[in-house]
Amino acid sequence: MTTRARPLIAGNWKMNGLTGSLAELDAIIAGSSAVADRADLLICPPATLVAAFAARAKGTAVMIGGQDCHPEPCGAHTGDIAAEMLKDAGASFVIVGHSERRADHHETDELVRQKTLAAWRAGLVAIVCVGETGAERDAGQTLDVVGRQIERSVPDGARTESLVVAYEPVWAIGTGVTPTTSDVEQIHAFICLKLSKKMKNSGESSKILYGGSVKPSNCNELLCISHVNGALVGGASLKSSDFLAIAAAAPK
Ligand code: PEP
Repeated sequence: MTTRARPLIAGNWKMNGLTGSLAELDAIIAGSSAVADRADLLICPPATLVAAFAARAKGTAVMIGGQDCHPEPCGAHTGDIAAEMLKDAGASFVIVGHSERRADHHETDELVRQKTLAAWRAGLVAIVCVGETGAERDAGQTLDVVGRQIERSVPDGARTESLVVAYEPVWAIGTGVTPTTSDVEQIHAFICLKLSKKMKNSGESSKILYGGSVKPSNCNELLCISHVNGALVGGASLKSSDFLAIAAAAPK
């Protein structure tokens, strides 16, 4: 019998949150012990809040991450943030290759691969996002697109403990629409197989999160699908009660 990897419920706050949002983090921390037997919890606030959130979450069950990093450790890159800076601020994870960055900032798979290496260099766990657009899905290209993204964005020799992959169909992000259970199962199994060839200990796979319109009303069904090891949650992570309800639905 294979044991299920402990789920990770990760919140991506995107460009939302001011110092007043510490109260929402406090509520998540307060509720975290009730879900500690279910899942690991991670909040990725905007860069301006990483240090304050990490200080507040220190010694609790809630981990803090960044939403992006530059491939270089320092230098003339105005407005960018290095993985080392996130680590220094108290982060332990960083999201790379989110579809909003791939679209808004024209990030390529090769750049995402370099960002993943930067995360590892700094001692962070990289959450590498992949997923097809609606047009690609309609053209029947989902597995081709996701397979190519995994192949090119995930460096060879990855270790299970420093890599998480998030499958986020672009058309499901922020739309309230989710893929069918069987589609998620098929795509996660495909990602698992692809990843197992890339890992340092080949045959193993990192955690694979599902992301895209996860909310309390649909999370149990999504989190119980095989090869789904947690969720990357956007909108619903901004409200502590919703985020905790999602964690509470993770299968034991
Ligand atoms: C995301 O953008 O990572 C995401 C999953 O967003 P939402 O949950 O709002 O669809």
